Amino acid sequence: MIVQKQQQNYGPNPVAVRQTDKYKEEYITSFVARWDQLINWEARARSEGRFFMEVLQQRGAKKVLDVATGTGFHSVRLLQAGFDVVSADGSPEMLAKAFENGRRRGLILRTVQADWRWLNRDVHGKYDAVICLGNSFTHLFAENDRRKALAEFYAALRHDGVLILDQRNYDQILDSGFSSKHIYYYCGDNVKAEPEYVDDGLARFRYEFPDESVFHLNMYPLRKNYVRQLMTEVGFQQITTYGDFQETHHQHTPDFFIHVAEKK
Ligand code: SAM
Repeated sequence: MIVQKQQQNYGPNPVAVRQTDKYKEEYITSFVARWDQLINWEARARSEGRFFMEVLQQRGAKKVLDVATGTGFHSVRLLQAGFDVVSADGSPEMLAKAFENGRRRGLILRTVQADWRWLNRDVHGKYDAVICLGNSFTHLFAENDRRKALAEFYAALRHDGVLILDQRNYDQILDSGFSSKHIYYYCGDNVKAEPEYVDDGLARFRYEFPDESVFHLNMYPLRKNYVRQLMTEVGFQQITTYGDFQETHHQHTPDFFIHVAEKK
């Protein structure tokens, strides 16, 4: 059953909330609805361009498992481009929204509720590609959970499959210190996102919307090389990391990294 909550609840000490399971409660209906209205899909599609489709097409990938479906942005785009997509997420609330977003575009999403840590219990078959996008992996707070999730992604792939996983550039946030914190604006200045608290084990972000409503997300600040290392340790053979959709990212400081991890 989907329980619709109107307010996030981090208890008396929000910076102490560092649990992997918290994600299900964080994406409450009112937060998700605002986000989807404001980050309009067309603008997001324009900024990404064909990056992910090209990575998939270059490898001949057709069967894609979207493990962090959220409200369905990538699942829908890939279905529209002719990929065969299964849409998984641990949050039933997100999947319901994704299904509705698909319906509005004349698509039926094949949704599966699955937590990454037990992915292959609920998702069957082998995929050419697994995608975990929109800074989702950051929700895992324990190293065991990260290893377990990556191992489950690896197991869901065919022998020559590819994992595409992105993350915010936390190195920049951790290294430049809290005083010089960067404010991220989405969709012009519609949504203002800023780190409210940061230490080695937590990046607590504050999201402010034009109607002055405020939401938070507690995330684990993943360092780029740490994620690459974990991917290597679970068995991925080659990892290419892009900065804001470019392979060489020495010229500027990217806000996002995209790891493309090959199984073979
Ligand atoms: N990929 C979407 C996008 O880019 O719009 C959604 C990104 S949202 C930041 C993160 C998603 O990951 C949420 O839908 C959340 O429910 C899901 N998620 C977080 N931790 C998870 C876990 N352990 N297992 C399955 N899904 C998880």
